[in-house]
Parts: sequence; structure tokens; C-alpha cells
Amino acid sequence: MTLRGRLTTAFLAVVLGPVLLGAFFVGATFAATSRDRSVERLDLAATAVRTSMGALCQRLHAAADAVALAAPEQRVAVANQVVARGLAAAVRFDAFTTPGAPGQPWARCADATPGYQAVSARVEIRDTTGAAVGAVEVAETVDAAFIVRLAGASGAAITLRGGSAHTTESPDARAAVLQAADRVRGDASTGTAGDRYIRRLDGAPGQPLPLVLSVPRSEPQGLYAVLVAAVILAGLVAVLAAWWLARTTTRPLAELAAAADRVAGGDLAARVPVRAHDEVGRLAATFNRMTRETQAYVQALTASRDQLRGHLAVLGDTMSSTHDLQRILRVLLQTAQAATGAHSGVVLLLDQATGVLAAQCAEGLDDDWAELRVLPGSGLLGTVAATGEPRRGRVDRDGPPLAEHEPRCRTYIAVPFARPAPVGDVEPPALGVLALYDRLGSDEFDDADLVTLRTFAGQAAVAVENVRVHEEAQRLSLTDPLTGLWNYRYLKESIRREVERASRFGRMLTVLALDLDRFKEVNDTYGHAAGDAVLAEFARRVRSEVREVDLAFRQGGEEFVVLLPETDARGGAIVAERLGASVRDTPMPIGPEASIDVTVSIGIAVYPDHGVTGAQVLDAADDALYAAKAAGRDGYRAATGGKRAPILEIPVPAGAAPPDDDLPRAGGASPGTQPPRQGRGR
Ligand code: GH3
Ligand code: MG
Ligand code: MG
Repeated sequence: MTLRGRLTTAFLAVVLGPVLLGAFFVGATFAATSRDRSVERLDLAATAVRTSMGALCQRLHAAADAVALAAPEQRVAVANQVVARGLAAAVRFDAFTTPGAPGQPWARCADATPGYQAVSARVEIRDTTGAAVGAVEVAETVDAAFIVRLAGASGAAITLRGGSAHTTESPDARAAVLQAADRVRGDASTGTAGDRYIRRLDGAPGQPLPLVLSVPRSEPQGLYAVLVAAVILAGLVAVLAAWWLARTTTRPLAELAAAADRVAGGDLAARVPVRAHDEVGRLAATFNRMTRETQAYVQALTASRDQLRGHLAVLGDTMSSTHDLQRILRVLLQTAQAATGAHSGVVLLLDQATGVLAAQCAEGLDDDWAELRVLPGSGLLGTVAATGEPRRGRVDRDGPPLAEHEPRCRTYIAVPFARPAPVGDVEPPALGVLALYDRLGSDEFDDADLVTLRTFAGQAAVAVENVRVHEEAQRLSLTDPLTGLWNYRYLKESIRREVERASRFGRMLTVLALDLDRFKEVNDTYGHAAGDAVLAEFARRVRSEVREVDLAFRQGGEEFVVLLPETDARGGAIVAERLGASVRDTPMPIGPEASIDVTVSIGIAVYPDHGVTGAQVLDAADDALYAAKAAGRDGYRAATGGKRAPILEIPVPAGAAPPDDDLPRAGGASPGTQPPRQGRGR
């Protein structure tokens, strides 16, 4: 059942209940009062009838006495006198009856002999001795006029039971009244006949006539109709009022429910009319305000999402389409700023040469940002770069104190970014720092911002690295197309870097110089193509015999170089022996069927034993190679001279192996992409 239905029902019950109850009480009270009044009237009328009849009986009795007391010879005359004077209608004694006497039966006053034609009184005639010798009966006619007179005296309508049933009621009412009187038991009882109350008076001494008294009901007959009409009217008014009340109460609620439905469906423009300033009106106003604010909030969110999407799209385009580091960093910064709602921000990169953090781009800062230089360890940006730990917070509360030229700010978030560290290598120093200042809305930056900024810092690191690698690739064409080994230019770069690293960490670096023996003859005998095939196969064997950290180069022609980081002369000799064996032991295929025997001579030099620069060590290795050639080829020699005593002969212990580590392998078409190899034989 709906709320409107319940309200209507409740209202009707509340209003109609009392109305019906009141109407019932009014009706009942009226009925009881009118009944009491009618009964009272009937009582009075009955008394009046008895009194009148009693007087009549006394008059008749007196007349009878007079006739009875007259002398016998005068009795007839006295009787006629009585009738003539109107004292009675008839006198009868012995065999004499005055003329015009009413018919029988007569109702006799003294003993209430039943009768209805006349009322009579009887007196005995006595002789001188007192003995009864006859009787005189004097009667008054009971006709319509008599009844009318009696009724006039009583104040009620009177109907005679018996004979022609004279009545003062209307002929129609007479039958009903008589029937009702038959139903009433006993004298002095009251009943109803249609719209009348009746009282039955049976014959009794003093009033011998059987009569029915009747009075109309005193209440206005229209009362009940008026009451019913009033109830119906009240009902109609109540229904209308209930309908109106329920409508005014539930309509705003229904509108509210419909609007809430629309909001649930995503239509935040839904509003409800505020019709009044009552509770429901307040609810509607609150609903409207809530929806309006939600709508504004969603619009703001959508706008910022769209803005962020735009920034991300620009970032993606920029990162994939350019190697302009400044531009990439600027777009990165703008995107990070849009994602976190920061007021300003800056990106700094560590200048490898000077060791100073220098600003690369900035947003929302004064123009002198370009002058921003920070030493690692000083101020906020320097601390973040030096520790490698991101920081966020409020300057006045969390510190650290800002360095002299650092941007002034209230809140900050700063994340360092570093080149991805090679496995096993020490944590690389920070490449730079990405910092944002003063989140809009004066809120502090939160952990979600930190996660976001870390992501962008990672992008910055990748961008810097990509640009660096790209620049290197531009500068060097790194590999040799025939063998897939690194080329001479990369050899120069690599040996410089490896020497620097070995020097920094106090490690050794062994250089092998390799030259195929009598290769000119191979070319001359089998052709240049066969020579190329041998060179390629040789490169494959070299690659398969060294670790991934080792770097293999084609220096030119049939001359090769292998760099063995973290390896001493003994380890170098082991590798040289293995390489020589791998070439010597298996003939090199030069065609579908043919293969030839090839050998290689190897010179070994060690940093720092045979030189303090890459070039010196390489020269020492070349010298050792010539020594090996001179000694008859197909063998290896270690360098002599240098800072330490020369190692002339290096016995190779059985099962000796180069230092085993998990450093990444090199020497392929690109660093670290060599396929896994089997059968290294170490
Ligand atoms: P050894 O080193 O034992 O003294 O004798 P060799 O015959 O190897 O002497 P040398 O180093 O003087 O000869 C180098 C030869 O290598 C010359 C050239 O024919 C050959 N050569 C150089 N580059 C290539 C190349 O790219 N392909 C081929 N097929 N041959 C090459
Ligand atoms: Mg040569
Ligand atoms: Mg040679």
C-alpha cells in the first residue's frame, strides 16, 4: 500500500470515526428522549381518559339512582326525564327501555362488563324491606362523537376496540394502531405503530371501554435523514481533505524519489521543486544542494581528468618522438604538476663533470630558475640527490633548511631518479631530482602524490638514459657487420671505461690481442668468401668461450681483441689457451663440404701490470702477440715489461677457470643481448 493510501486511510479513520459515533449518539439520544416524552403524554392521556370516564360513570350512576329511587308508578316518567335532560342516552329497567337506546353490548362501569356500544351504570331497585326487586341501567352512547370528545379531553388520539372501531386517527392509521394494540400484552403497556406510540387501555371498573391511545412520535421525521446527510457530507469533506493532504504530503516525496532515481542513473542535473518551507521542503532543498555540489565536483574531476589525459598524451607523443631531453623533461614536469595539483616544480640533472645539480626546466617559478645550482648534500634538493631518498612535507615543520638559491615554498615533494643500476654494480649516483612545490588548496602532498611522482621520476631517468644511449649510438657505430662483434671505435671507448672502472675499484683487467695465423694464405687459396666465413666462425667461437661480462672486438682485418674484466694474467692465459684450442681442434667450415685447419696467436696484457692507460695495455698485448707469432704461432704469450716483473711462462692448472660471477655478458650486436651458449669447456 502506498504512503498516499496509508495517509488517506488514517485520515479518514481519524475524521469519520468521531463523526459517525457522534451521529449515532445524537440519533440515539433523540430517540430515547422522544420516546420518554411520548410515554409521558400517553400516561397523561390515560389518566385523563380514566378521569373523564370516572366522571361519566358517576353521572350515570346518579341518574340510575334517581330512577331507582323514584316511586314505581313514576319511574317511566323519571326515566324519560333523565333522557330528555340529556343526563343519559338511555334508561332501562324491568321490561322498559327509553326509546332510541343504543344497541348491545354495553360496557358496565362497575364490573367492566365487556361492551362498546355504550357505557352504562346499573343500580338495583329495592323494596321497603331492602330486598332487590329489579335494577335500573342508565347508558351513554359510545359513538364517534363520544370518542372525539374523549380524545379532546385526553390530548391523545383514541381508537375504540370493538364494534365500528371509532377513532380519531385517520382511517389508514386505525388498522395499524389496532394491530399494534393486539401485539401489546396487558394494560398500560406501550408499543409502536408506524410513526406512533400507542397505549392500550383495557376495560376496568370506572373505565369499562376497551381503548387504544396513540400519539405521533414527537421527533421530527427528518432528523435521521439530516444526520445521514451530515455524515455523508462529513465523509465527502473528509475524503477530499484526506486526498488533498495525502497529495500535498506525498507529491514532494514522489518527486524526490524520482529525482533520486535520475541521480542514481547518472543524471546529476536532476532537481526537485521546493514547494514549502516544511521538513519535506528542507529535504528537497538539501537534496538540490547535494546534487548541485556533486555535479560541480564531478565536473571538476572530469575537467582535471581530461586535462591530465591531455598532458599524458602530450607526454607520450613527446617521449616517443623526440630525443630533445629538455623538452621531454619539461613535458614530464608539466604532467606531474597536473597530476598532483602542484603550484610549481623544477627538474635538476647532475652534471657529471662538475658534480653539481643544475636546473633543466621549471614551471611556476621566477625566471632566475635557470641559475639554480645545488651541490649534492646541501638544501632540500641536494639532500634528496645525495641520500637517494624521496622526501615530502612542510618546510617549516619537516625541514631541511632550503639552500640559498632554492625556490621558496611551504610544502614540497622531491624524488631522485637514477640510471638503472647494472646487476651487482654499486647503487648508481642520482641522475637528478624532480621536485614539486606548494600543492594547490594549501594541502600537503600525500603518499599517492609520492607514488605518482616516483613514476614520473622513473620516466625522467629512462628519458635521460635513452637520450644518452641514443647519443652514444649516434656517435659510434658500434658493431662490426661481418662478425657481429664490437668494432674498433667501441673498443677504444670500452677499454677507456673498463680501465677507469678497474682503477676505481682496484680490480684487474686483462686484454687479449688475437691474430689468425697465415690468414693471407686462406684468402689466396680458398678465396675471400672463404676467408670471411672463417672470420665469422672464429668470432662465434670466441664469443662462446668467454663470459658475458667479457667484451670481444674485431679490431680490423683478422685481428681481434677480448677484454676480460676482473681477470688477472693467470685467468687471461686460461682463456687464451681455451680459445687457441677451440680454433685448433675443430676445422673451420668454408663451404657445404669443405673445412680447413686454422690457428690463432694470442698476446696477453694486464692492467695495471703492463700499462696505466687502455692504449698502453693494448700496445703491450700487441707486443705479446708479435712475440707469440715469432715463437712459431698457434700459441700465446704474456706481455713483458710494465710496472711489474714480466710473466714469461704461465703454467695452466688443470680445471682452472676464469672468475665466475654473474655480471652481464657482452660482445654481441648490442650489449647484453647475446644468446645463451653451451659447451664453454671450462
Ligand atoms: P700472420 O698473421 O700469421 O703473420 O700471417 P697473415 O697471413 O695473417 O699476415 P697478415 O696479417 O699480413 O695478413 C692479413 C690478411 O688478412 C690480409 C688480408 O688478405 C686478410 N684480410 C684482412 N681483412 C680481411 C677480410 O675482411 N676478409 C678476408 N677474407 N680477408 C681479410
Ligand atoms: Mg694481421
Ligand atoms: Mg694474421
